[in-house]
Amino acid sequence: MTKTNVHTLDLYFRGKPELIASYLIPHQNGAVLIESGPGSTAKSLQAAVEAHGLRLENITDLLLTHIHLDHAGAAGWLARHGARVHVHPVGAPHLRNPERLLASAGRIYGDQMDALWGEFLPVPAEQLVTHSDGEVFQIEELRFTALDTPGHATHHFAYLLEDICFTGDIGGVRLPGIGHVRLPMPPPEFHLERWRQSLARLRQLDLSAIAPTHFGIFSDPQQHLDMLEDALNEIEAWIDAEMPADPPMEALQTRLTQWAKTFALSHGLSESQWQAYEIVNPIGMSAAGIYRYWHKIRRNTTGRPQTSRRPA
Ligand SMILES: [Zn+2]
Repeated sequence: MTKTNVHTLDLYFRGKPELIASYLIPHQNGAVLIESGPGSTAKSLQAAVEAHGLRLENITDLLLTHIHLDHAGAAGWLARHGARVHVHPVGAPHLRNPERLLASAGRIYGDQMDALWGEFLPVPAEQLVTHSDGEVFQIEELRFTALDTPGHATHHFAYLLEDICFTGDIGGVRLPGIGHVRLPMPPPEFHLERWRQSLARLRQLDLSAIAPTHFGIFSDPQQHLDMLEDALNEIEAWIDAEMPADPPMEALQTRLTQWAKTFALSHGLSESQWQAYEIVNPIGMSAAGIYRYWHKIRRNTTGRPQTSRRPA
């Protein structure tokens, strides 16, 4: 296990435990946070930081795996307390000017936006730090490596610290005490082939632990990645079986829910555990992501004749 202390902070998303984590890593001059969580849980984040004897002003650096609202929503608020915000270069402009990000989230969540995600403040340009793929960077005595890991989002980093990897959403969703990894497949950037490449990248690391944002530090990284691969294989087979019939969105969502529930139950999930996965990663989101992936990417690359393409 890593020599450095890593504390899992529970943000109590929607009042529920163990759904969204932020990771607190103290250093000689304050602390690093990995993920801010959404604006709606900013007060839980503050309380958790203070429970470790630190103040928000002691957070020198915030590392974001990607800019989805459940990971990055409180970044601007932390920046106001002085933190530098590290992010993938493709995500950085959206933190500076979140209007487009918020507009597209608004189309999905409608009047639920505020209750779910709270306030999303912009991050001032001078506090943004971007990295290139494979870049090693130092924060006080801590050495991190940023790994470009698309598949869930094109602007996604996993961060390696010693032998622990903070996988954001590319390591899937796995709740504590459960041997079930679920793939969050949101539009518009879910991309199965890229996800497999990211998985191959994670497999090259010599890890003792893996820490997805949803939720916690798992000390069986090889088994975790095997479960992730199994989930990728299963959804790929499902997509190839179901999508050529071009089901409308509603039917797709129903069929996907049935499949996902069967898959989850095969791993021994209880009904309440299934509900917990649903709260943090609603299946409707993945249905929309699969729909877009199929129509924009996969349909044209699975051996169908070119003439079946619709005009763009
Ligand atoms: Zn995400």
